[in-house]
Amino acid sequence: MNAPLPSQATAELPFYAPAGNEITLFEHAFKNRLPLLIKGPTGCGKTRFVAHMAARLGLPLHTVACHDDLTAADLVGRHLIEGGGTVWCDGPLTRAVRHGGLCYLDEVVEARKDTTVVLHPLADDRRILPIDRTGEVLEAPDDFMLVVSYNPGYQNLMKSLKPSTRQRFVALTFDFPAAEREEAILVGEADIDRDLARRLVGIGRAFRALKDRDLEEVASTRLLVYAATLIHAGLEPLAACRAALVEPLSDDAETVEALMEIVAATF
Ligand code: ADP
Repeated sequence: MNAPLPSQATAELPFYAPAGNEITLFEHAFKNRLPLLIKGPTGCGKTRFVAHMAARLGLPLHTVACHDDLTAADLVGRHLIEGGGTVWCDGPLTRAVRHGGLCYLDEVVEARKDTTVVLHPLADDRRILPIDRTGEVLEAPDDFMLVVSYNPGYQNLMKSLKPSTRQRFVALTFDFPAAEREEAILVGEADIDRDLARRLVGIGRAFRALKDRDLEEVASTRLLVYAATLIHAGLEPLAACRAALVEPLSDDAETVEALMEIVAATF
């Protein structure tokens, strides 16, 4: 069973409303020194979950937002020029291996395949990081954990992890929260009342039903939190929903108006 969670963020533990047994699974993966892959659409809580787990396990968190220019040196480290000579500077992956902690590679499929190959000896039972440039071979301590995430949505059809990379991870799939849980997230994140949370979640769900037909991207939990935050700050609900939920999803004037009709039917 998952331990009860605070209804609000504390300094130590970022607020996270669990969907199922993901907290227990993460703890087992950590204890058994297994790397974890989290799949799911953008804004559904992957990063928050990792931050929550790092705090829960008392681990420093090293996060890397991956992109297509990310090189192995960006992860591992490089020599920098300093005072006429060069000094070695650890990258975030090396820092986590050297000192322990959780290394989180967000949107790992964005990184070039030759970059993700540096993860291989770390992500199997060798748990080592060879650093060619310094001649070191670091052994990962027990409190090192590698976590990667990506969004397997339509835009990544051409991008996926090499089978030799993904088969080194235990994997979890995330999705947008069920209505009641998403309402609890909005209440916890934006301090709004339950009735407002219910209306916003209703709009989010109506927008999600339009996926692929009228919308390429759907309203994420993140955008619902933005809308809730703006309303809580005093913005009128229609204006808040337009700014946080509608305009970010579409550039097409007709679609924007159609979405605003759904909003207007709710408020
Ligand atoms: P992802 O990494 O999947 O793109 P995030 O973890 O950044 O998404 O989530 C976006 C926002 O949605 C968070 O900042 C948080 O406000 C909210 N959120 C989503 N899921 C949860 C959850 N289960 N518990 C608490 N907040 C959540």
